[in-house]
This record gives sequence, C-alpha cells and structure tokens, in this order.
Amino acid sequence: MLMIPGPTPVPEQVLLAMAKHPMGHRSGEFSALMAEVTENLKWLHQTQNDVLILAASGTGAMEAGIINFLSQGDRVLVGNNGKFGERWGKVARAYGLETQEITAEWGKPLNPDDFKAALEADTDKSIKAVILTHSETSTGVLNDLETINAHVKAHGQALIMVDAVTSMGACPVPVDAWGLDVVASGSQKGYMIPPGLAFVSVGPRAWAAYETANLPKFYLDLGPYRKDGAKNTTPFTPPVNLFFALQAALQMMKKEGLEAIFARHDRQRRATRAAMAALNLPLFGADDSASPAITAVMPQQVDAEQVRSVMKKRFDIALAGGQDHLKGKIFRIGHLGFVCDRDILSAVAALEATLTHLGYDQFTPGAGVNAAGQILLA
Ligand SMILES: *Cc1c(COP(=O)(O)O)cnc(C)c1O
Repeated sequence: MLMIPGPTPVPEQVLLAMAKHPMGHRSGEFSALMAEVTENLKWLHQTQNDVLILAASGTGAMEAGIINFLSQGDRVLVGNNGKFGERWGKVARAYGLETQEITAEWGKPLNPDDFKAALEADTDKSIKAVILTHSETSTGVLNDLETINAHVKAHGQALIMVDAVTSMGACPVPVDAWGLDVVASGSQKGYMIPPGLAFVSVGPRAWAAYETANLPKFYLDLGPYRKDGAKNTTPFTPPVNLFFALQAALQMMKKEGLEAIFARHDRQRRATRAAMAALNLPLFGADDSASPAITAVMPQQVDAEQVRSVMKKRFDIALAGGQDHLKGKIFRIGHLGFVCDRDILSAVAALEATLTHLGYDQFTPGAGVNAAGQILLA
C-alpha cells in the first residue's frame, strides 16, 4: 500500500487498461484516444489552454516550462521553501537564467508579501517569470498560489509558472480563472497512473513569449507538441500504454467529479492531521497551509525511520521519509490520488499499533482512529 507522494496507488481499471497490446500511434484509433484525453485534461485543468502530454516525469514538464518561454540571461523570481522549489532554481540556473529566490523555512509557506515587494521593486519590468511550487511535497506545505498570482498579475509582465505536481487533481488549480501561464504536473501523482507521463498547460501569454525565447531545446520543444496536438497526434512515439491508462484514469475522475475529488482530499487531509494530533505527534507545518496530498509528521519520542520500517515490514504500508536535513526527522503520509477513507483508517490504526510496539505511549489507544473516523463521517 503506497502512502508516499508518488508513485501513488493505481486503480485496477487503470492497470487493466494498460494490459493491452500497443496500437500504432499514427492510427485513427490513437488519434481518437488522444482527442478524448486532451479534452479531459482540459476539464481537469479547468482551462481552454493547450494541455500537452510529454513522455517524461514531472521534472520534464518543469524543464519544458523553463526552456520554451524564457531566454538566456532572463531574470526570474523563484519561490523556494523545499526540495521542489529548490529544483526550479536548479533547472533555471542550468539554462543560464538569473534567479532571485524568495525563500521560506522548510515547513512554512512562502510569504506572498515577499513576492509583492520584489515585483513592485521591479519598475523596469526585468522579471520575466515568477516560478513556484504549489504543493511543496517535501514538507507538506501548500503555498498560497492565488495571492502570489494576484501580485504577478499586478506586475503585468511576468509569466507565472507553477509546479502543480501534487496539487493537480487534489485541490483547485483553476488555470483559466487565475490566468496561470504554465502549469506542470505528472502522471504518478494525483492522476492515479504509473510514472512516465508529464503534462504542461500553456496559455496565450506563454505562447507569445515562446516566439522570442532562445534557449536550446529539441525533445521538449513544445511547439511541435502543440502543432501535432491540434491534429490529435504527437511529434514522437508516445508511451501508448500509458495513454490507455490516462484514458481510464480521466474517465474515473470525470465520473467522480472535480468537487468530489477535492472534497475527498480535503477530508482525508483533515482526518490525517486530526489523527496525528490525537496521537500527540507534532505536525510539521500549520493547518492553514497544509497540502491536500501529503501530511508531514515530526515525532519526538519515537524514531521516524523506525516508524516507517515497522509500517512497511509488518503492515506493508509505505510511508515517505524526510529529505535533506529532514532525513530521519519526519515521516510523510501520502493521501493523494486513488486513496479512500478506509485507507486512512487502516494507516492510522497501523500507525497506532506501530507506535505502541516501539514503546511510544503518549496517546490513548484508539484515539487516532477515533479522531480520523469522526472527520471522515462528519
Ligand atoms: C513528484 C514531484 C515532482 C516531479 O518529480 P519527478 O520525479 O520528476 O516526477 C515535482 N514537483 C513536486 C512538488 C513533486 O511532488
């Protein structure tokens, strides 16, 4: 049972959809499939913009965003409050962009006022893009994209590029309503598909920037993806079986409905957090900036890695650990994608047993399950 923030659990319908012989990608059949999934991706992104499909992991979509719409030496503002924000900066610098980082301590959200100040100070409009991670998976923090985006819109020139890898399909990312120029996501997260596909939504302002952008690119040059996408085909051989998976997964998502999907993630986030509080396990990060995809916990009287090890060995539940300086200090419970309320109760019950087994006695047995149950059934 995968309760890590990707790869996430894959529904049987999706697995079975992949267990087919590949079809030719230049066939009418494939084009019909591509037309359907493209339409449904736009539904998920709440946009009329292009949503392009790449054979890559999420980082490929991030890199595509950088190299298609920016030029050598461009100045960009990068939000960095965790591993993935840090990655945006690394990609940008790898292509010779001049990065100015807005940082926040790991576990805290980015402060929108810091973006406001930097954007207001940019009177000659030299900032070409504001780049940030919506749900910072490494710490379980959801950044206030809506407010930061409002400051970008007030600046008037900079594009906004968003890593929505663990927010797409988990909480609202209304691409058109907010005017998000570039939005990256990946199949092994909220999409309930194995790793291998990345998605990038591109708006008209970004396409205008594409015309003059001069960074080198070939496989991730989004121009051909757009041109061929309009004819429901792809520039290179797509991972056809992952497209079968995408078709099945998006059909499931449409059946559940966007509001229901968001409500489920919100409910499971709150239930998980209430359970940790009832077990007297400190949450890493505050309730008002909690990611819908993942809950980070910083236990005090018990070792985070031991918790993960017992959960894995005895209950076959994989939790994520901490990264970098948080290694060994936190464990992270993923509740992203194909996760039902029963999974949360199972994980909390298994965690209670694990804690007791490890000699942690700072809770009343059953308190975590009870707290989660009350929220799940409210
Ligand atoms: C998983 C993830 C990515 C992408 O990582 P890949 O390994 O390239 O798929 C990017 N950003 C966030 C916030 C993620 O959680």
